[in-house]
Amino acid sequence: MSTPYNMAFACLDCHSSFKRELKLAPCDYPKQLTCPNCGGVAHNYGRHFKAPKKSDKKQWEKVKFLHEHGFRFHKIRIGSGHHDVVPYPETLEQAKEFVVKYKKYAVQT
Ligand SMILES: [Zn+2]
Repeated sequence: MSTPYNMAFACLDCHSSFKRELKLAPCDYPKQLTCPNCGGVAHNYGRHFKAPKKSDKKQWEKVKFLHEHGFRFHKIRIGSGHHDVVPYPETLEQAKEFVVKYKKYAVQT
């Protein structure tokens, strides 16, 4: 039995996002789906991603920046056995420091 999760997907081309309920084992989650809006690539940003407003270009720029540096909005835990979760940056400026500071947590693509 696996619990269905609502995973958030977002398209960096047309800035739309949508949720999919996936009844799969976590290792089988698709990393990307076809964007229903533009037919491009919508990326899986997990359960905790909150998409910016469509018109908020700065925020989407930040999302893209983080994405390009290997941050896909998965939780970053520093240390083990406790709940020190690193919050994602609010602005592009903060994101620039963030990707350097937490480089080792970035996923390789
Ligand atoms: Zn799209």
